[in-house]
Amino acid sequence: MEIIRTVEEMKARARALRSDGSVVGFVPTMGSLHEGHLSLVRMAGELSDSVVVSIFVNPTQFGPNEDLDRYPHDLERDVALLEDAGAAIVFAPEASDIYPRGYATVVHVQRLGEKLCGAFRPGHFDGVCSVVAKLFEIVRPNLAVFGQKDGQQAAILERMVADLEMDVRIIRGPTVREPDGLALSSRNNYLSDEERAEAPVLYASLEHARSLYDSGETDAAKVLGAVRAMIESKPHARVQYISAVDWKSLDDVTELRAGTMLVLAVFFGKTRLIDNLVLGG
Ligand code: AMP
Repeated sequence: MEIIRTVEEMKARARALRSDGSVVGFVPTMGSLHEGHLSLVRMAGELSDSVVVSIFVNPTQFGPNEDLDRYPHDLERDVALLEDAGAAIVFAPEASDIYPRGYATVVHVQRLGEKLCGAFRPGHFDGVCSVVAKLFEIVRPNLAVFGQKDGQQAAILERMVADLEMDVRIIRGPTVREPDGLALSSRNNYLSDEERAEAPVLYASLEHARSLYDSGETDAAKVLGAVRAMIESKPHARVQYISAVDWKSLDDVTELRAGTMLVLAVFFGKTRLIDNLVLGG
């Protein structure tokens, strides 16, 4: 496995891979890797000849009061995990190389990027889209794998790629969970023992919603109300939003149907967790 630390070197390597005719798969990450990330790397490996994984804690997608400064870093550990998962190249650039003096461009996806998490984290998806667009130019992948865990992010990036005619296929990998249902996230490490004990309610409430839908309930307001009640029964939980949207367009849904994504963001203490579930598969 190669470790590449500069944009210039990555661009040269990407050109060489493409001229070989290799199918290049790409998994962008912020490091602090867990089994969720590694499942995406393995999925990319099944669909491509060479997998490039980027590790870059992108400063422009963090708000002023968010956890950029305490975001965990352990490149050595991440590199060992990626080697086992079959990555060919780890691309770990410095922020000053991605955002050199004078950098001024933003990619903004309207509507989809302004609701749900976008409403509470202004500029977050501009940061995500801008860095992913730039990483696509540097790595030139044929396909890129993103986690359904961040379902809004995946839908926004699919929109960006379609709108800008970018020549890359976006694939969503399923959410990897702890045995008790909590979606894996590097932010789970911030939870106190009490908060951690309550956090599985997120997925339990989404599963409860799915069982209501499976037994014929399609009134989104009723089902979202049941999800909220379950979560709010936990003393440390503070709901930021719970919504029902189409999993691709992110348009609001009032009648649940296959392809409806139930999506939520909830604080446990200072830690903000997100999760979602798509009805009908
Ligand atoms: P991050 O490093 O948090 O930016 O995540 C990098 C990629 O891993 C994104 O596409 C995430 O959606 C994905 N990811 C994060 N957590 C999980 C998980 N529990 N299961 C599947 N994919 C995940």
